[in-house]
Amino acid sequence: MPASRTYDVVVIGAGPSGSLCARNLAARGYHVLLAEKRPVVGVPVRCGEATGRRSRLSNFMKVNEAYIETDLNGVILNGPGGVSIRYDKEDIGLMIDRRLFDQDVARQAQAAGAELCVNTRIEGISPVKDGVRELAIVDEASKTASTITARLVVGADGVEALSGRWVGLKTRQLPPQVCSAIELRVDAMDVNPNHLTFWQGHDSINKGYVWVFPKLKSGVVNLGSGVLTPKLGEKNMYDLSMEYKNRLFPDAKVVEVHGGAVPVSGNLTEFVADRFVLCGDAAHHTNPLTGGGIISGILGGELASRWIDAGFRNGDLSRSFLVQYQVDCWEQFGKHHHRQMSIRDFVVELPLPTQTAFYRIFKDMVDADLSLPSKLVGYARMLGLAAGNWKAAKKAFIK
Ligand SMILES: Cc1cc2nc3c(=O)[nH]c(=O)nc-3n(C[C@H](O)[C@H](O)[C@H](O)COP(=O)(O)OP(=O)(O)OC[C@H]3O[C@@H](n4cnc5c(N)ncnc54)[C@H](O)[C@@H]3O)c2cc1C
Repeated sequence: MPASRTYDVVVIGAGPSGSLCARNLAARGYHVLLAEKRPVVGVPVRCGEATGRRSRLSNFMKVNEAYIETDLNGVILNGPGGVSIRYDKEDIGLMIDRRLFDQDVARQAQAAGAELCVNTRIEGISPVKDGVRELAIVDEASKTASTITARLVVGADGVEALSGRWVGLKTRQLPPQVCSAIELRVDAMDVNPNHLTFWQGHDSINKGYVWVFPKLKSGVVNLGSGVLTPKLGEKNMYDLSMEYKNRLFPDAKVVEVHGGAVPVSGNLTEFVADRFVLCGDAAHHTNPLTGGGIISGILGGELASRWIDAGFRNGDLSRSFLVQYQVDCWEQFGKHHHRQMSIRDFVVELPLPTQTAFYRIFKDMVDADLSLPSKLVGYARMLGLAAGNWKAAKKAFIK
């Protein structure tokens, strides 16, 4: 149970986004509660555990070797029609252990002075009254209910977030913009242990991809598949993941199965209200092309903490002040995500032969080391494809 009845800030959810936001605010001297409904932070893991490079992560925190699983040196993308693209590049990213990682960030928040309460589910948020919001909380261990107040609330409650709705924001996850995924942890090592491997294209999976991500330190691979709204009668993600597992690692044991959803709509239009902000998956900060949300969630948490601090210092925690946080998120990553979503929609809408041609062009560019001339030629060829597939291009790029 929380030690106090009043806080400057209550952060809902001790995922990477919420913990980072709580850490920064506590470090600036605010009285912060970090409320997590689960009994143990970071458990269960619902993530492929691939993330950006060390230098990117170290912009936000001291990187802890304890959670590093693999230094990634490349990507293999198996497209339709047997087109396989291999891109080798040192230090393109990391595989991490999300349980240890989430616990590390939550510990950073505690070390900065935030109060972490596990087994603490937030059940509702009141409208603003006398400069505070009241939160209904339930202690999951004893099932006792109580209330606390906060001058500002951060909803970092992930893909299952309800906090935005409680304050009147439109946060509904519409089926065409949510990816459902099933991942198997397989007791095996991949033939490319330092590469992320993907399968994509209409002859393997329609609106999604299959992945194999190796965790070197633990000696396992994360093998999963995720898809936007499947067509009626399409294979479910469990069967598809098992099909790849049986093909790639026939004798290996599946040690864990987990599933989850990924919000891939691009940033919500509105994710602030009076004395309230959303960050991370709850604000759909996830990259809509890759489904990656660790780094963008952390960046969302970082920006939220800066604007909340600015709001407190200006004596203004109104929606009209906090809206600057939304604009900042759009500038820093929202715009980029929006472009990536258009590319995703264009590629998945192409018929199989044109999709194969798209991958061939991309392969030529990568095989030529993504040099400027190869990129220019590639983009010109892609423009040609787009012109010949006006319907898909219009749907993706002219909304
Ligand atoms: C199968 C799968 C594979 C993925 N693979 C990758 C990948 O390889 N790389 C990548 O970057 N991203 C990946 N993602 C996405 C990534 O996991 C998320 O984007 C990331 O976890 C978002 O962080 P967050 O802090 O916003 O939310 P979360 O990590 O979901 O944290 C939210 C927290 O809030 C808590 N909470 C929720 N409601 C309440 C409440 N009412 N009261 C208190 N606590 C509450 C939850 O218990 C949770 O701990 C994957 C997702 C899935 C489902």
